[in-house]
Amino acid sequence: MGVLIFKKVTALLSALLIALAPVAPVLAPPNLVDKAFTPNPVMSEITAAINQVAVKYSEVRGITVTEVDIMPNVYAYASGRLIAFNRLYTPNVDVLNALMASDIGAGFHPALGRCTPAEFLAYHESAHIIDRTRELAPRIAMVVKYGQRSDLDLSGYSFRGGMLNPGEALAEAFAATLCGSANATEREVYTLFTENHG
Ligand SMILES: [Zn+2]
Repeated sequence: MGVLIFKKVTALLSALLIALAPVAPVLAPPNLVDKAFTPNPVMSEITAAINQVAVKYSEVRGITVTEVDIMPNVYAYASGRLIAFNRLYTPNVDVLNALMASDIGAGFHPALGRCTPAEFLAYHESAHIIDRTRELAPRIAMVVKYGQRSDLDLSGYSFRGGMLNPGEALAEAFAATLCGSANATEREVYTLFTENHG
């Protein structure tokens, strides 16, 4: 009889434990970057994309994302622990999208795949942060692997003066891969980030 009681108590405890088992919470993505701008839809999209990179690439965590007044021929830049976007375009999504469409049509940037122009640029700049935080290990690997080849199937911005521009080629391939539009060469370049941690 004692055994029977024991079993009943165990069954009751099991039922309680099941009842108390926590339901997996639906978590918002953690906020891994500092926002230094007046909110607008483009900057929110950019920050969400950078934050998404930061989940996988710790090098991007803790950086500041901001807007700046810079010359019109620059969409954005990465410097130190900062990614800054041109304030000419961040409040004007239609202008940004039209300019990017023109660049992509001319082969200057890769196709967008599933990304918006803002997301593509956010991924591109995130790649520069990763490369620099790793003391250019991906870039050095790029130079070792491809030298100054001018015949690679990469975007126009990946070359300068007809020669491979390794830092930009890496950033372009990183963004194209995250956007799902990368060709075989861009996917190969992307692996330099997964293989070279500095
Ligand atoms: Zn760049």
